[in-house]
Amino acid sequence: MLPVPPSLFLSAEKADELAVWKSSEPNVVSLHLPVDESGSYPTTLDRLIREAAASNPPPIRRDLDGIAAFVRGSFVPGSRRGLCVYSCVKYGIFETFAAPETVTRALTVSTRPYLRPLNDLRRRYYRFLTLQANERTARFTEIHLGESVLVESLSGDFRGEGLEQAARRALELCRERRADRLVLGAEPGLLAELEPLLEPELRDRLIHEPLLGLDRPAEAVVERVRHSEQDAMRLREDVLVSHFLEELRAGGAVAGLERVAEALQQGCVTRLLVRDGWAKMGRSCAACGRLSVDHRSCPWCFRATTPVLDLVEELADRAAAAGVDVFRVTRDPRFDGIGRIGAELGVRGRAASRPVPRLRPA
Ligand SMILES: [Zn+2]
Repeated sequence: MLPVPPSLFLSAEKADELAVWKSSEPNVVSLHLPVDESGSYPTTLDRLIREAAASNPPPIRRDLDGIAAFVRGSFVPGSRRGLCVYSCVKYGIFETFAAPETVTRALTVSTRPYLRPLNDLRRRYYRFLTLQANERTARFTEIHLGESVLVESLSGDFRGEGLEQAARRALELCRERRADRLVLGAEPGLLAELEPLLEPELRDRLIHEPLLGLDRPAEAVVERVRHSEQDAMRLREDVLVSHFLEELRAGGAVAGLERVAEALQQGCVTRLLVRDGWAKMGRSCAACGRLSVDHRSCPWCFRATTPVLDLVEELADRAAAAGVDVFRVTRDPRFDGIGRIGAELGVRGRAASRPVPRLRPA
């Protein structure tokens, strides 16, 4: 019998477990692999593994072998465009997650899994619970990052009391599994009976899909949900970029790496917008920790600075840690025109960004 391939689905619970897990040694291997349609990703993996094997001690060889065997042996690319694998053979950890979009390729070895790419994806994609029902069966499926998992299936009389039971279970599962949206797939008559039975907190995040009855296969459900999610993401990006450009014209926002870095470090930014996947080198002061684009000596404390591999990510990380809303722009070409990074300013920042009025000669 062939071994069962590991699940590619990321539950909220699993994400929490990984976030706090730490090894006592630097023996946790994290792989982020872009999966291209032409199928050359195993070659990319080979290169990453060669580099990692050359610069790390032998004990991680077993992790690297396990990852290579999984990618070449049991991973099915399909419409998946990114793959994340976390391995620590010594403690029996081997977790695999797929993404519907590409990830930046990297293979790192550390004391804990490198979760930033996965966390970025999680922030941008909803977690859906779907309830597909007919008169006799109610089936719950969870969908996140383009992957689905069957949660449970109930049988009963879903024209009468059973429907109330299904509505109660929908609430419990949405809470337990932290679903952002509930998708209802049933014929219109059943939908009309079911909706009033749902708690108000569910009715606010409801999506009706009368065509997603129980006869639809899991792939069709994932595809339908992905479609409506992409529409929602496109709309949200359009709204946020438009708002940012208006603010920029009105003096309520700044654009470009230099000005954004300055505004962020002054603590006057409310929302950071950054082109997804854009990286740029910068400099960091070892003494005060301030970041700059290219200052060899720190503009704040005048000590020597050291290079930072990716200033854009570093700024985004610090912004998120400070509670600033970070939004990654994936498509809108208007955003590239203003320098691929922008920040909306709070009240304090607005005053500072306004040009100082020149005194008129008396
Ligand atoms: Zn400094």
